[in-house]
Amino acid sequence: MESVAEALARLERLADAPELVRLAAVFADAGHELALVGGPVRDAFLGRPVSDLDLTTDAEPDRILELVVPLADAHWDIGREFGTIGARLGGTTVEITTYRSDAYDRTTRKPQVRFGTSLEGDLTRRDFTINAMALRLPGRVLVDPTGGVEDLLAGVLRTPSPPEESFGDDPLRMMRAARFTAQLGFALEGGAYSAARELAATIGMVSPERVSEELRKLMLAPGASAGVRVLVDTGIAEHVLPEVPALRLEIDEHARHKDVYEHSLTALDRAIALEQERGHAPELVLRLAVLLHDIGKPATRRIEPGGAVTFHHHDVLGAKLARARLRELRFDNDTVKAVAELIRLHLRFFGYAAGEWTDSAVRRYVRDAGDLLEWLHILSRADVTTRNRRKAATLASAYDDLERRIAVLAEEEELAAIRPDLDGEQIMAVLGIRPGPEVGEAYRYLLEVRLDEGELGYDLARDRLLKWWAERA
Ligand code: ATP
Ligand code: MG
Repeated sequence: MESVAEALARLERLADAPELVRLAAVFADAGHELALVGGPVRDAFLGRPVSDLDLTTDAEPDRILELVVPLADAHWDIGREFGTIGARLGGTTVEITTYRSDAYDRTTRKPQVRFGTSLEGDLTRRDFTINAMALRLPGRVLVDPTGGVEDLLAGVLRTPSPPEESFGDDPLRMMRAARFTAQLGFALEGGAYSAARELAATIGMVSPERVSEELRKLMLAPGASAGVRVLVDTGIAEHVLPEVPALRLEIDEHARHKDVYEHSLTALDRAIALEQERGHAPELVLRLAVLLHDIGKPATRRIEPGGAVTFHHHDVLGAKLARARLRELRFDNDTVKAVAELIRLHLRFFGYAAGEWTDSAVRRYVRDAGDLLEWLHILSRADVTTRNRRKAATLASAYDDLERRIAVLAEEEELAAIRPDLDGEQIMAVLGIRPGPEVGEAYRYLLEVRLDEGELGYDLARDRLLKWWAERA
């Protein structure tokens, strides 16, 4: 970050948005407080892109509605029982929430929503100090009762209240810590880290939907592998994604096989780099498949008589385990199916590297991958994490070769699908000839015309054919 002054200037510019200026004026005129809060304050400060604008106010939900509806192009109150009103103002989406001072039910972990009376009170019940900052509008006064600016500068995730209490109130905050590590590259403060290790098992009380939403955000972040490490190291992964910590197979000195866990995280980093190099947005299906591609290994590991380690059919088992786990986490069906399918296919390419494939094998690879082909390319390439440079280069060039052949075949087959405007029967009828080499010659002439000029239709094609026939004679 350049400087605090620069960061604060960015925050002020955010408050300059005309929609916000109008909104702030309306609340102020009605005698209510309004402040930008949480994510957008944090992100503007860090110079990250800000999408949705979260605001907080002392006005209660019905009052928020009264004030917002006249200004809004659209509004919704799905979060009304939690005190949240959403609205579209021009190009911006805002979510306005009444100050809260929540109490937590220790058995269901559902917050019992209570409205609060002060901005400071609302801020101190939030998850991390970096998310507990607000900018009062229209005055643009920064409110930071828990030292969020300091922690933003230090790159630290710290809970405003003692971490045991905070995580005890809402165990999801531990997953959010892993998510923010992945998104921001921040580190969980020592005491909070210990608290997370101690309370890891309580994540089981949180609904799978909330857990998977955080997992989704974590996996889509640039530092996804760092986020996964937090989950594994604290022991949270044991309860939400146990197949991943299970990848830490004990190292067998004789077999000297690599640590599958480290391999999977390296592959994930590689896949994220390739995804970007190849011009894609972060892709959940790909990233989940890369993280989970070897989860079939622990259960299929065999030490062969010669001492070699094998993992027969770990692709098939891995697909099955991934399907079950992602279903349990309530990921949508399409995502579950696609991730499982990629895992099932992830070893196919190694057959290509081992020996030449026929065109039909290449075609089958493309057909089996279907819509997932690009992700299979990236997964297969990312799976090569060997430190042996020569081996890595050989595999990479084998995959280049496979992609080239796929491109050539695709082009040929598209070309093959193109037909001239007249078929053989029509050519014979127009020219009054019988089957023979001239029919093929005429066919190829019309195909050239078709490729050069596009579709002509019957009449034009017949004229061209007759002209060609006359000149040829
Ligand atoms: P983004 O929207 O970019 O994912 P965010 O920080 O806005 O990130 P949200 O999940 O939208 O995260 O939550 C909005 C704000 O609400 C957070 O910044 C934080 O202040 C607060 N918050 C969200 N979840 C919790 C929670 N479980 N416990 C305490 N405070 C929370
Ligand atoms: Mg948000």
